[in-house]
This record gives sequence, structure tokens and C-alpha cells, in this order.
Amino acid sequence: MSKVLFVSSEAYPLIKTGGLGDVAGSLPLALSALGEETHLLLPAYPQVKQQLANTKQLASSRYYGLEVSLLETHLPESKVPVWLVDCPAAYDRPGGPYLDNNGQPWHDNALRFALFCKVAVDIALAKLDLQWQPDVVHCNDWQTGLIPALLHPYKERPATLFTIHNLAYQGLFDHQTFLDLALPSALWHPDYLEFYGQLSFIKGGLVFADRINAVSPTYAREILQAEFGNGIDGLLRHRQDRLSGILNGIDQTVWNPATDPHLAANYDSTTLARKGENKTALQQQLGLPVNEKVPLIGMVSRLVEQKGLDIILAGMAEMVKRPLQLVILGSGDVHYELQLIEWASRHPDKLHVVIGYNEALSHQIEAGSDLFLMPSTFEPCGLNQLYSLRYATLPIVRNVGGLADSVTDTNTITLASKSANGFVITEHSTQAMLTTIKRALRHYENSKVWRQLQRTAMAADFSWQRSAAQYIALYQQALRDRDQHTP
Ligand code: ADP
Repeated sequence: MSKVLFVSSEAYPLIKTGGLGDVAGSLPLALSALGEETHLLLPAYPQVKQQLANTKQLASSRYYGLEVSLLETHLPESKVPVWLVDCPAAYDRPGGPYLDNNGQPWHDNALRFALFCKVAVDIALAKLDLQWQPDVVHCNDWQTGLIPALLHPYKERPATLFTIHNLAYQGLFDHQTFLDLALPSALWHPDYLEFYGQLSFIKGGLVFADRINAVSPTYAREILQAEFGNGIDGLLRHRQDRLSGILNGIDQTVWNPATDPHLAANYDSTTLARKGENKTALQQQLGLPVNEKVPLIGMVSRLVEQKGLDIILAGMAEMVKRPLQLVILGSGDVHYELQLIEWASRHPDKLHVVIGYNEALSHQIEAGSDLFLMPSTFEPCGLNQLYSLRYATLPIVRNVGGLADSVTDTNTITLASKSANGFVITEHSTQAMLTTIKRALRHYENSKVWRQLQRTAMAADFSWQRSAAQYIALYQQALRDRDQHTP
């Protein structure tokens, strides 16, 4: 069993903006349950500190001239230790972990996360006198990218794994920032941290980690191609022998229709008829016509291009003509938000849009909908289709990334083999999306087939236990790779 320092810039329920938060809130628990000695390292944002009363100071030091303390606490309702990097000058401010209240990146993000990385490196090298040193440092996304780069020169160091949750976010800053951060000057090179004249945090992970993985096997393959590679596919092809994919799990206690406290009615695969009560409750709550028969399509998403908002908006005129209801919860790009609100105001009996972040409503939409729409252009893993499957809400997805790894299209063959659990859109176009929705609605008419699809969906195993076992194998691989390749 290994000692694992799990480094993340967010972790549910302490702080979450997307899928990374879900993973960092669940995977350390699953690793611990399988015997790995896991510590989670997180910045001490105000939202996090507010939720945690009993913190103990373990160490203090200065980084970039700023006072930094390391505080110890636990993930809520668990024994997994959380170490908080407490630096009020960097993290104690109103707003999100990455963006200010106007949706702009914090001007000092490079400093905030370089500092975070340096603390992780000092823990990894046992410089903070904590009586605990990891065997493996598990880094996640660009905010942690400098860790493998800064650890790499050390002969005695933990192995490093870098997980790509979304390659589109790379942590790019100008050359002056590289100088201001006083990073080793040798790292300013296109083979290392330089990316077309900019400092790239993510390259620190992609170039230097002993192992790299993406959050689904299909995404791990896709990012080797220019179409999905965000300009960095060449480097990934170069490191292909170190790259693999592990599909995320889901927190099956938080996302369990049989016990979910947010639902009007709890249900499981033997009491599926009760799911309808959630639909009625959702229609009532949102002011949609209450009608059990009309198919209800849900969507919970960041409202950004990646999530297919362009084809959804282009198809809206057609969708509002169909016998269906559409409920969208999300926030993101203002121009998408405004267009959706406009459509909803013109068709209040067909479309309801809620702008914002609402955990309870996201559960109610998963339970109350018949179908769930995710026409993403790319999707590293995607969690909502996994929640949907568990809630017997059949996903309509693009055949990309983790969507392709979890949803099996409905056709005569997959119906016969009882593997069908959703509907797959095979290209990024409004027409393809509308055709697939139409196909899904046809199946909705046949209640016997629909029940079979729902039961297959609910039976899938997306537990963290399965994924955590794969991560443990990958840690072992990272340790072997470190030993083979360390000079
Ligand atoms: P991404 O990480 O790209 O945003 P994922 O599907 O991997 O997409 O994860 C998104 C997570 O964030 C899910 O848990 C989803 O339910 C949640 N989420 C996204 N937008 C909202 C919202 N407006 N309200 C509540 N939860 C949301």
C-alpha cells in the first residue's frame, strides 16, 4: 500500500466548480477504503474554512514573501485527512477558486497556484517536518502542473501521476510571469514549460510526470489527435507510452435515487414507477404544465461552447415545436445565458431555464427528467450522464470521451443484447442532435422498451471502488517508471 498526496484545487463538498471537484471529493475516500494512506491537499479558500471548524496548524513557512500555514482537518464525515494551504493573501477573498465575481480569472492566479505547487513539493520532499512523506504525488489539472516539473530533478522523490480532467484549461501566462515566479531558468524551453512563448503550467505535468492519465479511456486516445489535442497533442503523442485512461466513478451515496434527500419520491430499479412523482414535482416547482405523459428532457451544465450550446440554441426553434419539455440548469457564458432566457420567456410551457448553481435542483432534474441532454463537442469523462444512468434518466450524448465509454446507443442489436442504455449523436450538428432526440422520443412511446432501457441504465457499475483499484495499479506503475527512468 502506498502513501498518496492527492493535490487538487477543488474538492466536493468543500469547494466545487465542476467534475474535478467531484473526483477529488470521492477518489481519496475510495483510495483510503482500499488501504492507501491518502492525504488531500487543497487551498484554504474562505468557503472551505467556513465549513471546517476544527483545524490544527501543522507547519508554517513563507513562499513568495507570503505567510503560509498548513492546516489539518478531515473531509466531512470521513477520516481522510485534508491539508489546507492557508495563505490569506492568495486565497482569502470573495469569489470563486479561479474567477472573481465578474467571471474574470484572478489577476494573480499564476502566483496562487505556483505557491500551492511549492507547498506540495515541500511536503513531497519532507521539508515541512510533518513526519509523513508520500510515495506518490497525484496531481490534477493545470493548477498542480508545476509539481512534477519541480520534483523531477530530485533523486529521492515520490513518483508523480498527472491526471488530465480537461486539456482545454492549460494555465497559460506570459514570460514575465515565468520570471516573476522565479522558476528554474532551464525550464524556459519548448521541451519543458514554454508553450509558443507562454508559460504553460499543464506542460509541467505532461512533460515531467512519471505517469499521465485522462479521465476516460476514449479521451486518453482522442487527445493524441489534433482535433482534441488543444495544440498539445504532439507532446502527448511523444509521451504516449506513459498515458492511459481511467473512467471516473460517482459518489453513489450522494447520487442514489433510493436515498437522495432532495427528491420528492425515492426509487430504485424495482420501484421505477415512483420516478414519475419526481417529474410531477419538478413540473410543479418550475411552473411547467403538469403532465406525466410528455417527455421531459433535462440538462445541468456549465453553459459553454464545449457543452454543445451552439447546436442546442440552433435547434431550439425545432425543439419547442415538438411534444416535449426542456429544463436547463446552468451558468456560464453570458451570451448563452441570455439566449436561453429569451427562448424560455417566449415558450414558458416548453422550456424552463434556471441560471445559477443549484445542487438540490440538479438532483431533482436528474430524478424528474426522462432524458438528459449532453451534446458535448468533447467530454473528458462527464459525470452527469453517469448520474443520469443511475437515476434511470436516459442520456442523449455525443460519441466522444467518457460519454462514448459509458453510453450504449439504442438499436436492434443493443436492445436484443440488453446493453442499450441511451442515445448517441454521431456528429456535432444540430440536425444530428434533433434526429437523435426524435429517435429517443419514439422509444419513449414504447413503455416496455423504455423500462428495459432504464433497468439496464441503473444496473451499470460506476462505483469509485472500481476506478480506485485502477488508480492504485497506476500508482504502482508510476513508481516503477520513476525507478527505471530516474538518472
Ligand atoms: P465539467 O467538469 O466539464 O463541468 P462534468 O459533467 O464532468 O462537467 O461535471 C459537472 C459537475 O458539476 C456535475 O456534478 C454537475 O451536476 C455539476 N454542475 C454543473 N453545473 C451545475 C449547476 N448549474 N448546478 C448544480 N450543479 C452543476
